[in-house]
Amino acid sequence: MFQVKFLEQYCKGCGFCVAFCPRKIIALAAHTNDQGYNPATVTDAARCNGCGICALMCPHVVIEVLEGGAA
Ligand code: SF4
Ligand code: SF4
Repeated sequence: MFQVKFLEQYCKGCGFCVAFCPRKIIALAAHTNDQGYNPATVTDAARCNGCGICALMCPHVVIEVLEGGAA
């Protein structure tokens, strides 16, 4: 089980993480953050394989992938 954490307030809604997640479990949320962007969020955390590609692709260092279940 992995935990994918987003520093939501820094997300620019670019969609890179959405496009590159091999499990296709990241989507942009319907709400907007303080900057007016739709922030990325994980839709099915149980299917995350912990590959870390989302974190590598994010140009704004918004994502952190941690081992272990949700706190
Ligand atoms: S760690 Fe890999 S599988 Fe998990 S959300 Fe990120 S890109 Fe997708
Ligand atoms: S790659 Fe980063 S900035 Fe772009 S949508 Fe994903 S979390 Fe947001």
